[in-house]
Amino acid sequence: MNPETDTINEALRLDGNAVAGDLQMLMGFDVTLLQAQCRHCRKDGVFASLIAYVRGPGIVLRCPTCEGLVLQIVKTPTSVIVNLEGMARSEIDLTNR
Ligand SMILES: [Zn+2]
Repeated sequence: MNPETDTINEALRLDGNAVAGDLQMLMGFDVTLLQAQCRHCRKDGVFASLIAYVRGPGIVLRCPTCEGLVLQIVKTPTSVIVNLEGMARSEIDLTNR
């Protein structure tokens, strides 16, 4: 732990709602309805509870429990790269729509 970098990382943190609009455009559905399970610690949670970092070269979403990488999106001039390796399971409940 480095107090200086920890403070910077804390200042850059947002929640999953901060990137919901971008992801909805990519995936075609309201991602705030997504229930996801972290592959690292198996914690279940809603998309909005993920920790979002948006100031790097892409979007990074981390687990609020273990801070493991759950989802990463990088846009290039010709493509969008989506890394879902940290998501063990995801589900959308359509009964409340
Ligand atoms: Zn986790």
